[in-house]
Amino acid sequence: MLDFVYTANPVRVVFGPGSLDRVGEEVARLRHRRALVLAGPRLDAVVDRIDAALVEAGADVGVVGRFDGVAMHTPVEVTEDAMKLVGSVHPDCVVAVGGGSAIGLSKAIAVRTGLDQVVIPTTYAGSEVTPVLGETDAGRKTTRSSPEILPETVIYDVELTLGLPAPLSVTSAVNAMAHAVEALYAPQANPAVDAWAQRAIALLAAGVRRIGVDPADLDMRSDLQVGAWLAATCLGSVGMGLHHKLCHTLGGSFGLPHAPTHTVVLPHAMAYNAPAAPAAMAQVAQALGVPDAPGGVYDLVAEAGGPLALRDLGLAAGDVPGAAEIAGSAAYPNPREPDRRALTRLLEQAWAGRRPGPAEECA
Ligand code: NAD
Repeated sequence: MLDFVYTANPVRVVFGPGSLDRVGEEVARLRHRRALVLAGPRLDAVVDRIDAALVEAGADVGVVGRFDGVAMHTPVEVTEDAMKLVGSVHPDCVVAVGGGSAIGLSKAIAVRTGLDQVVIPTTYAGSEVTPVLGETDAGRKTTRSSPEILPETVIYDVELTLGLPAPLSVTSAVNAMAHAVEALYAPQANPAVDAWAQRAIALLAAGVRRIGVDPADLDMRSDLQVGAWLAATCLGSVGMGLHHKLCHTLGGSFGLPHAPTHTVVLPHAMAYNAPAAPAAMAQVAQALGVPDAPGGVYDLVAEAGGPLALRDLGLAAGDVPGAAEIAGSAAYPNPREPDRRALTRLLEQAWAGRRPGPAEECA
């Protein structure tokens, strides 16, 4: 019988082409006037548009500071630098534009100051609708969750994603897919999360298949963004399992890039969990339109020209046992017990880039 507890995360979502220009209205709607803008690299023109939209929103609304030193995995040293700017310009809100790194910094500032956040994602990573913050300090990435971390408003402007290069689009979309896959076997899964996850997987897979054909196809980009939003809503609603723990370890302790690591690890983590989560795997396979979910994800990535091996992302073979040890040492919800030796085998497969076989071969 169904038996669950579900609490929705209250985020306002503004979606549509050109919606970047509504950032001024959104800041004013929150009754703020002094925005600190955080931006990923090469986004000067977008920051200028934010500036103009804020000025247009009304008297005294404007940008009081800009910070573009964002870095992946939210290192605390970068947050400390940004906090110095907060201390000198006294913003009353944060506007962040960029991928998960810019949004991570926004959350790190919000949790330290209580400032409201308007965030404008330009990748499919999905941090924008979760109350979760991962921070890296002295080589260890730790995660915390609290209501102040959740952004108040998200603006999804598909036009900002048109320039996301195809290889980055593929890895970012598979990163999003991982949220939906793990949601399907999460202990707190419920019918809403299941529906979002299945729709997200189908939209993201369709986008990944089309991205190489025309990366500037607005409809395809819009579908990818919807898929990313739904998948991220799953991520913010239920606990993630082994796959996210492995990627978190590889990123936080071994410096591997976030989205490519998710892309390589996902089929292997799925194959490991498949014997213990047959219903979730059947749902993923159906959404992908393939007979075998882990192999289907691997083939999707291979056909899109995405990364398949951790060795190509810079992991040394000698780091595999250490990564398995860290990933096996913490508690997290997962349908199958994480066994240290089996995790080492899983990571060896992912390191070499072998296609995962049917679930029982990996059991
Ligand atoms: P990112 O923000 O570092 O962006 C990846 C690269 O893409 C960067 O070089 C960036 O400059 C570039 N880029 C971004 N948008 C672009 C665009 N539209 N056009 C061209 N280039 C563009 O990486 P990411 O994968 O978006 O996010 C990863 C980070 O987010 C990690 O730190 C991860 O831990 C975090 N994250 C957190 C959550 C959460 O819920 N807390 C969820 C997902 C990701």
